[in-house]
Amino acid sequence: MIQRPKGTYDVYGSLAKKQDYVKRMFGAVCESYNFGYIETPIFERSELFHRGVGETTDIVTKETYDFQDKGGRDITLRPEGTASVARCVIEDKLYTELPRKFYYIGQMFRYERPQKGRYRELRQMGVELYGSSEPIADAEVISLGKNFLDELGIETKVIINYLGGVETRKKYREALIKHFEANIDEFCEDCKERLYKNPLRILDCKVDNNNSLMESAPSILDYLSEEESENFVKIQEYLRYLNIDFEVDTRLVRGLDYYNNIVFEFKTLDDEFGSVGAGGRYDGLTASLDGPSVPSVGFAFGLDRLVDVMNRDNIEVENSNIDLYIMNVTENELMYSYNLAQDLRMCGFKVDIDLLNKSMKAKFKEVDRLNPKYIIIIGEEEVKTGVLTVKDNLTKEEQKIESTELLDFLNVNL
Ligand code: ATP
Ligand code: MG
Repeated sequence: MIQRPKGTYDVYGSLAKKQDYVKRMFGAVCESYNFGYIETPIFERSELFHRGVGETTDIVTKETYDFQDKGGRDITLRPEGTASVARCVIEDKLYTELPRKFYYIGQMFRYERPQKGRYRELRQMGVELYGSSEPIADAEVISLGKNFLDELGIETKVIINYLGGVETRKKYREALIKHFEANIDEFCEDCKERLYKNPLRILDCKVDNNNSLMESAPSILDYLSEEESENFVKIQEYLRYLNIDFEVDTRLVRGLDYYNNIVFEFKTLDDEFGSVGAGGRYDGLTASLDGPSVPSVGFAFGLDRLVDVMNRDNIEVENSNIDLYIMNVTENELMYSYNLAQDLRMCGFKVDIDLLNKSMKAKFKEVDRLNPKYIIIIGEEEVKTGVLTVKDNLTKEEQKIESTELLDFLNVNL
């Protein structure tokens, strides 16, 4: 038997319904903020992620699916969406009309150790806001994310931090190196690697989380310029104004190199799954990809993790059973039934029919499985008179309805 690759899963049945619901909800919230849908290729030139996401990030050093195509090009399955959207903004010169707002939904690929809430093929839903460095743009993006989570019924908290610009991080890097250097032997191999390359990432380490040097590490907020501090204060004011509960965590640094200024995460209250979404500002990204400098801010939610949380919290999505099952009594009524099914489908109802030419007993068994709201039974009499037998599948009550009045009846009752 051929098995699915490690870290992947198949999507069908109730899981498909749930994912579909979450994606549609995300799309609706994004549209309400006037973000437009964007789709970029699932594979890109490897260079995009090496330069865009950063050579020292876990995503690029350990987690990418790289291969050479038959033309000898270095290709990478996208591990995240932001670099690809930035590439598109530059390539198609979308920066000529700013601000512009995008959202995307799709598969990403990371070679990680599979575990709860962590897959090798994952699904992310994200937004990208281009062309504003105003704190209101940061607040807009965070509020979109929080509204979406509230709509889903998932209780979350927003964690924020402020990384400042290049100068600030340079000073802070030095302070961190000084802080960890003498005792770096106590830390994991990854952190030893990170010390000189990307010491901010030590703060993010899941292995050394409880080391006391983490608690005593210097705070980036002490290194912000006056302007940066003011900007951070303003963002917090807007969030308070929007009634968004947030916590400042000075150890939140995010895994990707391109972040500056605001960074944030959405977490469930018990934090069982890690973050369900994360993002921040990346004003330097387009320039690092040889484009013009365009300020941008965005985030990505993990769709898989969101659904895992919904399952754990028994959050059900709207009942999306079929509306109608059209049941022909014998083969003689099949064409009449099929016609009716087609008409009702054109009117927007979700309709199923017997595809197996089963016995009446088997048809009713099928009805139990599909659980339609109504069953329309078509026998010889119904075809002759045009008076249909409509059975409410919940109350089991039957009534006769003229075929000409069926639509009115369904529109009122469904
Ligand atoms: P983590 O710290 O959990 O590894 P990350 O910093 O790699 O997360 P991002 O790259 O910011 O996360 O991705 C945004 C969101 O995508 C995360 O908050 C999470 O919900 C989801 N995500 C990231 N990696 C995976 C994965 N391997 N499987 C499923 N979801 C993931
Ligand atoms: Mg990760």
